[in-house]
Amino acid sequence: MAIRQIVKEGDDVLSKKCRTVERFDSRLGQLIDDMTETLHKAQGVGLAAPQVGILRRVVVIDVGEGVIELVNPKIIAYSGEQESLEGCLSCPGEWGYTRRPNYVKVRAQDRNGNEFEIEGRELLAKAFCHELDHLDGIIFKQKAIRMLTPQEAAELNS
Ligand code: ZN
Repeated sequence: MAIRQIVKEGDDVLSKKCRTVERFDSRLGQLIDDMTETLHKAQGVGLAAPQVGILRRVVVIDVGEGVIELVNPKIIAYSGEQESLEGCLSCPGEWGYTRRPNYVKVRAQDRNGNEFEIEGRELLAKAFCHELDHLDGIIFKQKAIRMLTPQEAAELNS
């Protein structure tokens, strides 16, 4: 396992659409392991492959209940609404309010190519939406209703 460098906003790779994963090999496993280690080191909630410079549809999420690995994820159902603060490891120190569904159901494959479905509410639903957006080149700031001012963000970070 290895820590990978997290790409910051402004890098082209974050605005591109990721390709579908077709090979479920040891390289994919390595990428997922590295992303998980990188996520934990950065103390984040989720990380998408483009954030480590890889344009593949791969996401790892950990809201404190264990790591969820998603390959080729798709949102197949959602409902409700939540408005809450959101940040991104690629936009350090920046926070904004977003409106997301309160419930999201995702269909994905695991690292071996087996299909599964997983549901999330509140923080997990928000994480699914945020990370899957990365796979289509979208950063949360594009969807934010209001970004915190630098002063507000500084108070939040302190
Ligand atoms: Zn992000």
